[in-house]
Amino acid sequence: MRDKRVIGVIGGGAAGLSAAVMAARRGGAVRLFEKQPRVGRKLLATGNGTCNLSNLHASPEHYHGGDPGFVFPALRAFSPQDAMAFFASIGVPCTVRENGRIYPIVEQASAVLDALRFEAEALGVQMLTDTAVTAIVPRQDGVRLQTTVGAFDVSCVLVAVGGAASGRLGGSADGYRLLTAIGHEKTPLFPSIVQIKTAKDPVRPLKGLRLDAALTLCLDGKAAATSEGEVLFADYGLSGPAAMEIGRVAADWERRKQGHMTVSIDLLPGIVAPDLLDMLTKRRALPGRTLDRWLIGLLPKALGQTLLKVAGVQPLSRMADSVTDAELRVLTDIIKGWMLPVEGAAGMDAAQVTAGGVKTAGFDPATMRSRRCPFVYAAGEVLDIDGDCGGYNLQWAWASAHAAVTAMTEERT
Ligand SMILES: Cc1cc2nc3c(=O)[nH]c(=O)nc-3n(C[C@H](O)[C@H](O)[C@H](O)COP(=O)(O)OP(=O)(O)OC[C@H]3O[C@@H](n4cnc5c(N)ncnc54)[C@H](O)[C@@H]3O)c2cc1C
Repeated sequence: MRDKRVIGVIGGGAAGLSAAVMAARRGGAVRLFEKQPRVGRKLLATGNGTCNLSNLHASPEHYHGGDPGFVFPALRAFSPQDAMAFFASIGVPCTVRENGRIYPIVEQASAVLDALRFEAEALGVQMLTDTAVTAIVPRQDGVRLQTTVGAFDVSCVLVAVGGAASGRLGGSADGYRLLTAIGHEKTPLFPSIVQIKTAKDPVRPLKGLRLDAALTLCLDGKAAATSEGEVLFADYGLSGPAAMEIGRVAADWERRKQGHMTVSIDLLPGIVAPDLLDMLTKRRALPGRTLDRWLIGLLPKALGQTLLKVAGVQPLSRMADSVTDAELRVLTDIIKGWMLPVEGAAGMDAAQVTAGGVKTAGFDPATMRSRRCPFVYAAGEVLDIDGDCGGYNLQWAWASAHAAVTAMTEERT
């Protein structure tokens, strides 16, 4: 098949679908290749199904990789406000919520995906699902795409195949293979926005417990990352948004294994230590309370009992009025900073995002054009860019797609 003026897009995820729409709007004939039976599977899972699609604070400080400044030109050319305008233009008005997070007002990732699909269809984008691209073969006037259903020649191609994270939703190493095969290099990969693994014995009895807490990951006793919000105890350690937000730091430490990492959990972040000590002191006077019931009302029962054990305030059959001042101080310290040894992070399959990827030095940050092959562009998570939790990753997908499409449609032969 020969399609002289066709723009190829590999991957029907966030970057690929938005790129297809943007390119078709600019008059491009677009052919999109998606290896799964349906496009946008990962997009459907975003924001727990509500799709936190951008963040007003998107800027290089919220991105990581060998060169986080690489994101700057694309974000400047396609800002979070531009993302809101783009989604409004396809029938999905958005709103800004806490910490600059941007959501569709219907809070449905399925609506975002549907709107992208409908717009692409209306613009005549040709979508080939169940079609994996297996190789990019540079040619004199474009590229040949080898796929599982045959070869296609296109004028230029956008590689938007995502990263390795979350394999059950389509994450794979395909992008690294496709791009390293044409001369690009990749960095080591590790999981980001991911659960933290701790020593198991202390957390096992708390499995399933959710509460608001403040977390501090410490490397050799020094704070390396902090977060505050909902934490979910799991049998392997800590999950929930606050843990996942800083899981990248644990994952990065795990692959280097230099130094000793711990996580300090403030289980009552709204109460300062002296006030807590005062409350506990008064609490001793609660009549007829044995220790196993003493902290009920202040902390979930199982957590209270666990912390008393960690503090060495035992046995639980003791009466609360027998707790000494010294024991109260130890307990206060533990409630305000329960230290657990960190073992690492959950794996790539459990992660939301891939840290590391194809080296950005091989691409022009303004156009996302490959410096190895002039007809090849890349966007989204396949590159060595990962954003913080809060809409930064999808903003990168849209903005990098926009930068590539602008260049591809201008330079189209
Ligand atoms: C559970 C979960 C929740 C998330 N929530 C948020 C959130 O709320 N906000 C946020 O900003 N980010 C979130 N993310 C991250 C965000 O979804 C990704 O960073 C983003 O989807 C990356 O976009 P992409 O287009 O680069 O890759 P993807 O969206 O992963 O799309 C890549 C596509 O390429 C296809 N593909 C792969 N290889 C080939 C091949 N060889 N040939 C053809 N097609 C191929 C894949 O099947 C896939 O459809 C979340 C991620 C997960 C897993």
